Amino acid sequence: MENNSNSQDNYNALVNRSGITKHIREIMDLRELYVLLSYECNGNCEYCIERNAHQKSMITDENFNKALDFARENDLHIIFLHGGEPTIHPNVVEYAKQAKEAGFLVKMFTNGIAIETIKKLDGILDEIIFSYRGDYSLHDQSKWKSSLSLQILVAESDFPTLESLRKFILEKKKTGMKIRLHTLNPVNQYSYDNQYVSYLEDMFMQTPDNQIYCVNNKAMLSFEGVGIRLTNKSLNPMHLKYSMSPDGEIRKNFKRYFEEIVKNDAMEELLQRSNDKLMRIRTDTTPISLEEVKNFF
Ligand code: SF4
Repeated sequence: MENNSNSQDNYNALVNRSGITKHIREIMDLRELYVLLSYECNGNCEYCIERNAHQKSMITDENFNKALDFARENDLHIIFLHGGEPTIHPNVVEYAKQAKEAGFLVKMFTNGIAIETIKKLDGILDEIIFSYRGDYSLHDQSKWKSSLSLQILVAESDFPTLESLRKFILEKKKTGMKIRLHTLNPVNQYSYDNQYVSYLEDMFMQTPDNQIYCVNNKAMLSFEGVGIRLTNKSLNPMHLKYSMSPDGEIRKNFKRYFEEIVKNDAMEELLQRSNDKLMRIRTDTTPISLEEVKNFF
């Protein structure tokens, strides 16, 4: 992430060319291309938002090259290996090397199950982001060359109180992994029903406007030295997120689908509570310092 005025000018120019807009409070470099190597997955999560998970399709070498060309032509600097589960693809290690040699920052999101494959990627990938699914997601950062992150979904069923979340964060921080917290993205019925975390909602309401940040287009709170991304609170609804699906199709939006959700009045009323504040921050153009939080994600 650039933080001097000269690189900021360059950044703005790049934004114009790639078409990506960035909220003034955004802490991420959004110039990334999500490359879905496969829809196949060795996991079976109830909150899965990938409707195509477990389909057999795999990206071809030709389409992976096409992805790198597209990223180059559109000033996208990050290749984000994704899925399904990207480690299912037999060429994942070669693809990671290829993207690195082409000069990209390369990250991978994984459920952590195929640990032997993941170890082969250590030192090639800039960042490995493990979704938290128990012990196989926890690693000692000091034993790895790549930077490790632990991405955790926060729902009240797992973390009934703020105190339980605090305890969890402090414990997991001992691994040296970067901790990233998310609430559920309401794109299917399960995530719609479980998106509301009352103590985080309270925290959002109590936090001064100038301490609400933006991560990957959504509002972010700072808590115990980590970022909590409130996935149902968009600060930049017009954002673009480039992705290539395993069949080689490039899309400008990573929202892969929205299944029919049956909304209910109680949930809509709860969400309404923070709406004024959300709208206020969304349109606030006052510059704020991102120094303290820029490494949260
Ligand atoms: S690991 Fe990811 S893709 Fe696989 S089932 Fe779980 S959420 Fe879905």
